[in-house]
Amino acid sequence: MTQDFIPFALPDIGQGEIDAVVETLKSGWITTGPRVRRFEEEFAAYVGARHAIAVNSCTAALHLALEAAGIRRGDEVLVPTMTFAATAEVVRYFDAVPVLVDCRREDLNLDLEDAARRLTPRTKALIPVHYAGNPCDMDAVLAFARQAGIAVVEDAAHALPARWRHRLIGAFGDATCFSFYATKTLTTGEGGMITTDRDDWAERVRIMSLHGISKNAWKRYTATGSWYYEILEPGYKYNLTDIAAAIGVEQLRRCDAMWQRRRDLATRYGELLGAVEELELPREAPGTQHAWHLYPVRLRLERLALDRAAFIEELRGRGVGASVHFVPLHRHPYYSQTYGYAPADLPVASAESERLLSLPFYSRLTDDQARRVADAVKDIVARHRRSAAGPCRPGEGAVC
Ligand SMILES: *Cc1c(COP(=O)(O)O)cnc(C)c1O
Repeated sequence: MTQDFIPFALPDIGQGEIDAVVETLKSGWITTGPRVRRFEEEFAAYVGARHAIAVNSCTAALHLALEAAGIRRGDEVLVPTMTFAATAEVVRYFDAVPVLVDCRREDLNLDLEDAARRLTPRTKALIPVHYAGNPCDMDAVLAFARQAGIAVVEDAAHALPARWRHRLIGAFGDATCFSFYATKTLTTGEGGMITTDRDDWAERVRIMSLHGISKNAWKRYTATGSWYYEILEPGYKYNLTDIAAAIGVEQLRRCDAMWQRRRDLATRYGELLGAVEELELPREAPGTQHAWHLYPVRLRLERLALDRAAFIEELRGRGVGASVHFVPLHRHPYYSQTYGYAPADLPVASAESERLLSLPFYSRLTDDQARRVADAVKDIVARHRRSAAGPCRPGEGAVC
């Protein structure tokens, strides 16, 4: 019997989200308006930040936060290499320099000792990424930034809802940027949010998110608004639609329930795969709450007779999707060629990325599917285990 393919990611969209979109479409107001305002207010209250500004992606959020930080041409911004394209490309929007930082072996979060070695008088900001939803040590990050006199813009695309010492990620750095992309823990299809406690940054981000115009443009068309506006700066067009915000309001209501389901799945994967010596599983650090956005396992390649790419192919053959988070930025042509990074310059990320593999992980994944994923993983390991007798010697009948 053939069983359904288990995709790597799936959004969790309920009837509430569908009804809210239909209601919005019928309301006559589909772009930025009352639902965006409500989403912003409820999001700010949820994470405990003074301000939340909704935008159409986390990439836009990061861009606007760096703009508020005053990044200029030639400035340097510390960016972990173990991240997605967006975290560094926004630095290039200013013709500034993303200085890549290695990760810690234990959890693949930013290595602050390596960051310290890469500080120069031109360093203006640090963008910590809470890898997979596991929060960075924010006490150490903030102390580092204070000492260096630089801004902290958090890339929290994985980190809703993550906690550092009981406080939700969202009000630690100068600004925190969230993603509502289709695969993330809260989705609006595409979307993002910037949270900050700083009134000056909030005002600047709000103005620059909509053409550098001096007041909330949507008020222009309402009875209480005015036709008059002023362009203060050449801004950007990064506003979120009310259609997307309507989905966001419903998703935020279910954010804790979806997180609990993912946490239960993490526990389940831990039970099913914990005894497999060829794997290293992700863990929640004491005193933190893991957002459980991703479930990246690390292969102990020295114990296996196949590499990561072959492992993913074997999973696919058993009806299981998988992905890699991440091929680090310094291994991509643009960053290696433009800045001359070699694998040895960022040795931990270079080595760890070769053995990373993310399993299917989302609130709609059933217990039965999680078991099928684990069975597939265990079957592959059993068939490709390298014998304890020593390294595999082709030609002696070993499966290499
Ligand atoms: C998804 C992601 C982003 C980009 O989010 P968008 O909303 O698609 O712009 C940024 N950083 C990280 C680490 C991500 O995983």
